[in-house]
Amino acid sequence: MHVAVIGAGSMGHGIAQVSAMAGHDVVLRDIDEGIVSEGLDAVRANLQGGVDRGKVTEEEMAATLDRLEGTTDLAAAVGDADLVVEAVPESMSLKTDVFTEVEAAVDDDCVLASNTSSLSVSEIAGALERPERVVGLHFFNPPHIMDLVEVVIAEQTSADTEAFATSFVEGLDKEAVVVRDTAGFASSRLGLALGLEAVRMVESGVASPADIDAAMREGYNHPMGPLKLTDLVGLDVRLDIAEYLREELGERFKPPQLLKRKVRGGKLGKKSGEGFYVWEDGEAVGQAGDWGAEE
Ligand code: NAD
Repeated sequence: MHVAVIGAGSMGHGIAQVSAMAGHDVVLRDIDEGIVSEGLDAVRANLQGGVDRGKVTEEEMAATLDRLEGTTDLAAAVGDADLVVEAVPESMSLKTDVFTEVEAAVDDDCVLASNTSSLSVSEIAGALERPERVVGLHFFNPPHIMDLVEVVIAEQTSADTEAFATSFVEGLDKEAVVVRDTAGFASSRLGLALGLEAVRMVESGVASPADIDAAMREGYNHPMGPLKLTDLVGLDVRLDIAEYLREELGERFKPPQLLKRKVRGGKLGKKSGEGFYVWEDGEAVGQAGDWGAEE
């Protein structure tokens, strides 16, 4: 199968990698030559890491790279595609512009997928002439490690498109979870509910971030506690999603003051060096000094 991935950033290069590893011919497209090369370099580095850890053979690495090419030319990228996966930034107007351009350059039976983590796939589909072939494919970061993909069914998505998308995900050896196109899908909605409650518990002094995280790790077998995960995702990203889910689903997603305060103070988690933990060289080295409980 021919797969085109639009956007070579954090998610796009990983989606291109897992598609090529599954045997598909893949073209990775971005707007700038430099970004395309960085995306291809990142794939090479991921594969080399796999070889070093004994998870990928030298032959698999070479064959995967052979099936993968990069370009800035949209028509060349999608001309032969059976599936286009869009992974451009999270903006409705950008995504509808990209899909309108893609739709004009693909065959009638090409399936169009968006990797959006929160936007309405039905709204994206509504901007197109053949909305029944639009679906969400919500990969998790990093795509070559994470096994879950949410298949997001828009109001207009046809049964054929759903079946195609689900079988594509299974062909990547990943778990497909089919969800209706609702705010936050399944994963972001549940993950955020837990994350926001954990922040409220820190705020009201129930326990320290490290103890709340330990409770979920040791008591519920979560691989990581909700506050460390918030640091990894980015406090600003979580705040944006909370505001959006509050608008769509109600007050239970109202963001806690502590989350807002930290974001206003530039404490965004791992990427800024401090959130609920202090981070050095990509590792959490301790809890943030003022963990935020009110007297
Ligand atoms: P990113 O900013 O790392 O990458 C986006 C890329 O799209 C950039 O390289 C940019 O140059 C490129 N781009 C912009 N306009 C383009 C165009 N017209 N044509 C081709 N490329 C274009 O973003 P990301 O983190 O990879 O996120 C991409 C999508 O995936 C978003 O919808 C995001 O919500 C979703 N997502 C992100 C994560 C995550 O953890 N980062 C997880 C799941 C889903």
